[in-house]
Amino acid sequence: MPLISASNLKTHYKTRDGLLRSVDGVDLVVERGETVGLVGESGCGKSTLGKTLLRLVDPTAGRIEFKGEDITALDQGRLRNVRKSIQMIFQDPFASLNPRHTIGEILEAPLIVHQAGSPPERRSTVASIVAKVGLPADAINRYPHEFSGGQRQRIGIARALLLNPELIVCDEPVSALDLSIQAQILNLLVEMKKEFGLSYLFISHDLSVVRYFCDRVLVMYLGRVVESADNETLWSDPRHPYTRALMAAVPDPSRPRQAAPLGGELPSPSNIPPGCRFHTRCPLATELCRVAEPEFRSIKPGHRVACHVADHIN
Ligand code: SF4
Ligand code: MG
Repeated sequence: MPLISASNLKTHYKTRDGLLRSVDGVDLVVERGETVGLVGESGCGKSTLGKTLLRLVDPTAGRIEFKGEDITALDQGRLRNVRKSIQMIFQDPFASLNPRHTIGEILEAPLIVHQAGSPPERRSTVASIVAKVGLPADAINRYPHEFSGGQRQRIGIARALLLNPELIVCDEPVSALDLSIQAQILNLLVEMKKEFGLSYLFISHDLSVVRYFCDRVLVMYLGRVVESADNETLWSDPRHPYTRALMAAVPDPSRPRQAAPLGGELPSPSNIPPGCRFHTRCPLATELCRVAEPEFRSIKPGHRVACHVADHIN
């Protein structure tokens, strides 16, 4: 049984500009122990998908199962237990750290909400997490503004780990950090994964980070997953023209140039092109692509692509 799965998941919003189809029919699975990357340009629906899986946003249609339990329609009360098991790490932890509270208070709060232990037990849980994520012991008496970006992300990670989660949705966790700090935080996530037996859904617009970090990758375009494969397959044999265009933008001297970098603008999720939603930017688009939506199909075990010509291109 997968740790989490979604089928035909949709998250639509009514806006003045019409219906925003941010997540528009996603199938995904994260197995226990896996790190699954979710990549795509900003605005393609990655964050909304992450929040929908946590039920921070309500889905419009489809189904989410966590460890076999249908959590699509659980009310907030019954969601509380699931929330302990699925946590989220954000790009900018500072935005979610209350500036008037010490790190100790911030980290103790979720333990109080979930009635996890007596006050001394809670303080000892906080102290041990603070040490595990590599913050100094006196961090608990200090305030968020006293920390650097990398340290704040360590605080964000500590907060996500407090309740012993099984899955962490990491939404661009290193995108705001300097390169040298990025590596430190990614290494910390790898260590914590081993230590806590975690699984990750790792959202990033940066393919080079995903390549380093993930077992399997989902490529998302305008609300849909258009290609999924294990990391190695995706890099050695990308089949979707969008995946190829994203990769062409990543410098890699060992790889012959396979495609031109992506041109054109990402269409609005309120105005998704008919047929293949990528056809307005695809160098290989044909008449068929303008009218017929390609099925997200398996081209070999573990490798799925939504493109009419996925088998023929090389
Ligand atoms: Fe391009 Fe057509 Fe494939 Fe869509 S289905 S990615 S437009 S070739
Ligand atoms: Mg985002």
